[in-house]
Amino acid sequence: MSVVPYPAADVRRYRAAGLWGTATIATEFHRIAVAHPRRDAVVALDGRLGFAELDRRSDLVAAGLAGRGLRPGEPILLQVTNRLGAVVAWYGALKAGLIPVATLSAHRGHEIGEISRRVGAVAHLVEAGTRGFDLVEFAGQQKEGHPTLREFFVLGEDPRGPSIEDVGEGVSPAEARVLVERIQYGLDPDGVAVYQLSGGTTGVPKVIPRMHAEYWFNAAEYARSWGWTEQTRVAHLIPIIHNAGIVCGLHAPHSVGGCLVLGSPDLDESLPLMAREAATHVLFGHGHYRAADHPEFGAATKAVTQVVLSGAKVPPALFEALEARGLWSGQLFGMGEGLFLTTRPGAPRRARLETVGTPLSEWDEVRILEPGTEKEVAPGAVGELCARGPYTLHGYFDAREHNARAFTSDGFYRTGDLATLTEIEGAYYVSIEGRLKDLINRGGEKISAEEVELLLLRHPRITGAAVVPMPDPRLGERACAYLVVDGPELTLPEIQAHFAALEVAKFKWPERIEHLPEIPRTLVGKADKKRLTADIATKVSAP
Ligand code: AMP
Repeated sequence: MSVVPYPAADVRRYRAAGLWGTATIATEFHRIAVAHPRRDAVVALDGRLGFAELDRRSDLVAAGLAGRGLRPGEPILLQVTNRLGAVVAWYGALKAGLIPVATLSAHRGHEIGEISRRVGAVAHLVEAGTRGFDLVEFAGQQKEGHPTLREFFVLGEDPRGPSIEDVGEGVSPAEARVLVERIQYGLDPDGVAVYQLSGGTTGVPKVIPRMHAEYWFNAAEYARSWGWTEQTRVAHLIPIIHNAGIVCGLHAPHSVGGCLVLGSPDLDESLPLMAREAATHVLFGHGHYRAADHPEFGAATKAVTQVVLSGAKVPPALFEALEARGLWSGQLFGMGEGLFLTTRPGAPRRARLETVGTPLSEWDEVRILEPGTEKEVAPGAVGELCARGPYTLHGYFDAREHNARAFTSDGFYRTGDLATLTEIEGAYYVSIEGRLKDLINRGGEKISAEEVELLLLRHPRITGAAVVPMPDPRLGERACAYLVVDGPELTLPEIQAHFAALEVAKFKWPERIEHLPEIPRTLVGKADKKRLTADIATKVSAP
């Protein structure tokens, strides 16, 4: 079975307790739009839409997609950045019953070729006019000889492909609504709504199926955890077509009739947008941990009552700098696979400073296990964070072998993150203490070390490779590759040319290489990455 469903008994419990609804995401959104027609739904750098208008436009997109022969249950790849049209396309695809695949605009042939075949994608949405790479031409190439891809659409204007926002031209809003309702009526609220991608650790990226009811619950519970209302205006600056973007930036504010203030990673344009639009809440990923130093920060946060920091350990100096400006801040731990932890309003200062908080739902179960076992660690000790609950997956898509290792015998997902429980004022809070999984967290973008190593080994002169995180003041980590080569040492440009030839997304390319006569091994014969990680940390910090 490609998709592992939630156990039937759990589904009954979650529904009986009122956690999961019985509607699809598109229907949940439509109900909210009907309840708040004139409120802002999205304000982006390139325009704004109220709920009624977003609802109407996404209905038309859905009708257009259906008119092109796209059928419910068929996957559509999304390679778009934070534009207004991305939000219209997101709801439009869901309303057509299609399954959006949350690929990144930075992905290239290596990723898209593999993912599109695995999920059997039939359509591909790309953005026109992206800097440095022609995604429209790329979409045309990907379709050539592909077993399932038959349509591509463009966000923005480009003569080479149909514009997603115009596909529904000629359909009346009333006809489009009837069609959307008919499509949604035929969908299962426990069926797959979205394919998210894992911040993976294996040679090929893993696909996470997210189902309608549990995915909407995840977002609605997130909004509840911060006490949001229809007055809330949530600024989101990191990619929207990502799990954090969809859950925290889009579905969560919409679940309460609130607004998404959609910026970009560029603070020069996003902070003035936050100021103009009086954002009340903002999520900063690691790449924005220095946002407070920006001259526009004060104006941007005038109406802000909550700053959420996520993706990496929060430096106390940052927390204190925000506090000195009178800003309340908290933390979030989240993952595409499900589990969220937050330090919600009311959490003690120390919990907000030192921990990522408590699980989003009281139905979440969290255990800290001795790695590789099903034994809980002693209280206060560090172990692997494992979770089970009403929005945490039970299996990756089409990955039976990997799934056998990724879960405990009683269905707890092994996150690969190291954590400990700290008691603060009588309650237990989780703090993240590192990770077991072999990946590089480059400003929130995850790079699987194994994937990069396998790509390096395809070079004719590389006979050994070990990829480790290298500390970086802005991004947190970057990838450093230790190499064993035949013949003279390779240069970084040669490695870059190799990755370009393999059509690998640029953020995965090693940014430094080190040569060794052989890769050091541990007693059990694995690459000794601890030693290499320490080695590169010393080299980077040396004056
Ligand atoms: P993703 O699925 O791409 O959102 O990545 C999830 C992973 O990001 C987690 O398993 C952690 O390794 C990391 N992560 C997310 N939030 C935090 C945080 N607050 N502190 C440390 N690591 C985090």
